[in-house]
Amino acid sequence: MLRLTEIKLPLNHDEQALPAAILQKLGISVEQLLSFNVFKRAYDARNKSDILLIYTLDVAVTDQQVLLDSFQADPHVREAPDMTYQFVTHAPKGLTSRPVVVGFGPCGLFAALILAQMGFRPIVLERGKAVRERTKDTFGFWRKQPLNTESNVQFGEGGAGTFSDGKLYSQIKDRKHYGRKVLNEFVAAGAPEEILYVSKPHIGTFKLVNMVEKMRAEIIELGGEIRFSTRVDKLDIEDNQLKGLHLSNNEYLPSEHVILAVGHSARDTFEMLHDMGVYVEAKPFSIGFRIEHEQSMIDECRFGPNAGNPILGAADYKLVHHCKNGRSVYSFCMCPGGTVVAATSEEGRVVTNGMSQYSRHERNANSAIVVGITPEQDYPGHPLAGIALQRNLEELAFTAGAKIIMPPHN
Ligand SMILES: Cc1cc2nc3c(=O)[nH]c(=O)nc-3n(C[C@H](O)[C@H](O)[C@H](O)COP(=O)(O)OP(=O)(O)OC[C@H]3O[C@@H](n4cnc5c(N)ncnc54)[C@H](O)[C@@H]3O)c2cc1C
Repeated sequence: MLRLTEIKLPLNHDEQALPAAILQKLGISVEQLLSFNVFKRAYDARNKSDILLIYTLDVAVTDQQVLLDSFQADPHVREAPDMTYQFVTHAPKGLTSRPVVVGFGPCGLFAALILAQMGFRPIVLERGKAVRERTKDTFGFWRKQPLNTESNVQFGEGGAGTFSDGKLYSQIKDRKHYGRKVLNEFVAAGAPEEILYVSKPHIGTFKLVNMVEKMRAEIIELGGEIRFSTRVDKLDIEDNQLKGLHLSNNEYLPSEHVILAVGHSARDTFEMLHDMGVYVEAKPFSIGFRIEHEQSMIDECRFGPNAGNPILGAADYKLVHHCKNGRSVYSFCMCPGGTVVAATSEEGRVVTNGMSQYSRHERNANSAIVVGITPEQDYPGHPLAGIALQRNLEELAFTAGAKIIMPPHN
């Protein structure tokens, strides 16, 4: 299979334009082109009245080697890489010790799924509830019911990403094609196939809920086990070796093989780990607020006369400002056609994030505006000092919000 990159076509091209572009690029006849599929589709909207689609195509041809030789100097014609996921091992026959995965967010879910696919029959411990029950608690909180500190936007099946925009792209280099494994598993669990080829795939909240359930079903079918409303409260460590876990239901679970996939909101768990002597290191992060504005304005700015074209969908943006003092302020996790949601897991604090449905048809867009901060400059000393800083700001936001929302006393 050949991989052709940078094949540019007009936004509203017809179906035949793609094979025609392949024939032209490779200088081959129709008979030599066996098949093709779109590996990636991005767009170039720098000229709003002449938006281009940019394709990466996987192409099967007769005489592949001859073509590769003749295009040696062209970086846009290459052999397509093998992106098949390779399991690192398989469980031994008569497995005696099952691994434990703590947390069932994206990290724990994939760790458990891959362990299950390798035959290790993992036990997953998740402090929150199964996704349907969790949805009731979370949507209830948004409709002014009390916060459930164990079942909310952060905690529960699917983790922090379940009620989200479901953006599935990152800027990391992925030389081993792990991202492809993730996307393939999502499609197998019911995600739209287009996530495999659009340049900035997203899924949206309601589809994610169903997919998480299907992935859980696969783990169980392969011999795994998921225990909800089960929090790890303490580790049992002897001579620097983990022996087991103390759980919130007073149970003790012996295990020497544990994956901690507890995400970034389980502050009580980080404190427990630090208190137990587990090495914890402060890391830089970004902090800020969310802005909201009309989606139509962004569509108009980015796509001009092509705003509303279904291939382009709701437009996104990315802004960066480098300040004279060396810091950078930037937009992050822009959420086209979505909603700002209350995302705290702790009482008396405000945390915001953005979510959308697959259609991204809400009136507004929102985006985080954040600044990078570091332990050296902004929260020196204790490894958990960054959490104290977060809590302080979240409490100030809560108090300020209460003053704005509460009617004045007579
Ligand atoms: C509203 C929202 C929108 C987002 N949108 C996007 C997006 O569009 N794209 C994107 O890439 N990212 C998005 N994110 C961020 C993304 O969700 C997180 O980066 C991701 O969920 C981190 O995955 P994780 O598995 O490491 O941790 P988490 O998702 O935080 O999962 C950790 C899990 O561990 C459980 N847990 C914690 N402590 C314990 C314990 N002691 N015992 C048992 N269980 C425990 C928690 O209940 C939780 O379910 C969004 C986040 C939010 C809140």
